[in-house]
Amino acid sequence: MAKKKSTAKKVTKMAKKNPKAFVVLVLVVFLLVGLGIGGYFVYTNFINPAREFSLVGGNVESIGLNTEYKEKGVKATYKGQDVSNEVKISYFEGTGDKKVPVDAITTDVEKSFTVDYSISHEKLEESLSRTVNVVNVAPMSINFLELGNYNTGDCTYIKAGDVDILIDAGSKRNSATTINNYLKAAGHVEDGKIEYLIVTHNHEDHVAGLAGDSSHPGVLDEFSVGTFIQFALSTNWEKGYTKDYITKRDAQVAAGATLKLANEVAGNVYDIAPGITMKVLDQKFYRETSTDENNYSVCTLFTQGSNNYLFTGDLEKEGEESLVELNTLPHVQLMKGGHHGSKTSNNDCLLSVIQPEVVCICCCAGNDEYKAAPENTFPTQAAINRIAVYTKRIYVTTVTTDGHQGFESMNGIITFSSVAGSEYEVHGSNNDTILKDTEWFAANRTWPKEGIE
Ligand SMILES: [Zn+2]
Repeated sequence: MAKKKSTAKKVTKMAKKNPKAFVVLVLVVFLLVGLGIGGYFVYTNFINPAREFSLVGGNVESIGLNTEYKEKGVKATYKGQDVSNEVKISYFEGTGDKKVPVDAITTDVEKSFTVDYSISHEKLEESLSRTVNVVNVAPMSINFLELGNYNTGDCTYIKAGDVDILIDAGSKRNSATTINNYLKAAGHVEDGKIEYLIVTHNHEDHVAGLAGDSSHPGVLDEFSVGTFIQFALSTNWEKGYTKDYITKRDAQVAAGATLKLANEVAGNVYDIAPGITMKVLDQKFYRETSTDENNYSVCTLFTQGSNNYLFTGDLEKEGEESLVELNTLPHVQLMKGGHHGSKTSNNDCLLSVIQPEVVCICCCAGNDEYKAAPENTFPTQAAINRIAVYTKRIYVTTVTTDGHQGFESMNGIITFSSVAGSEYEVHGSNNDTILKDTEWFAANRTWPKEGIE
């Protein structure tokens, strides 16, 4: 205690003993502080005024042209004030030495452009200039389907530019009719060809609709596939739906389709459409056996402009840990909720890295198909607790009406769409209500106090 007070005591003692020296000391301190403030003022206003200037979007590599360019490309601040209208923009076609001035970016064709920004603000003695490559980004929609029965299962239809992608086709063989009708609707698979079919793992609720049955023609009966990207390992080969899937798959391969197993294409990046890529993420269960079939799930990351969308099938905790270890995962705007919102997936090892903005869960909320304990029916309380820390924007396809086989739409078919890979919208065919605001949630779940309000 004595030591703490000693400086103050010394100063007081000195002031009493030698008042003149004390006054000098105070003046010196004031002078130094004044010089510091003045120096900072001179530096920021005259020597290097640009340090106070920031250009939002100026360091974005790839931004969408048509809807978002103007709004995002020229937002500039100077000392916290919006000076966007003082920014001068010059457009060039091409980059580097080859750039040719153009009046504006008007094309819909994929091209690289250079945009030079400059600002001549009253306080800025030199103009600032940055170069941004602007790439056209195709629109994309991701649709989490309802499957026409009370059974939980996955089927995600993605339209990326003109390219059609399907991830899984559950939940039962008879879901094939519901899925096929959706895929045949206007604006969906118009040419009868699914360019990429991702089959995440060999469970009925992901595979059965591909095969269908005698009264419900399968997805593979109604559509041709360009490339199959399929789980590498399984202990489930003897199931009827698997055998039928393999038969129909092989018929398509004989007719020219490509078949790739996850372990063969792990790390590959497919150029899907302008500004859109699909990466097959790596994880160890493409090569190593697991006691849980779910861990064999093929995982994919789509990038559209500056947005990222993650799909992990029914990957469990060990798989999620491997996914984080073997890939550099980005922040994602969208994650398909792991394993229908199971407590064994959606672990913080993954969530803390990707910090999803939107989570879409494919399940029949609250029905007892897989779990009888109320808190463990999909989507589980434990998974909600973990996701809630990062987002409240959780959407669910279907909900039970009686806890067993009765069902109705919750959000319905959930459509996540982005015109140019930065802004996005989420809509349900039934409604847009987020999970925490639904009646089912109020009666069956609680929002954790750590959750985002
Ligand atoms: Zn599943």
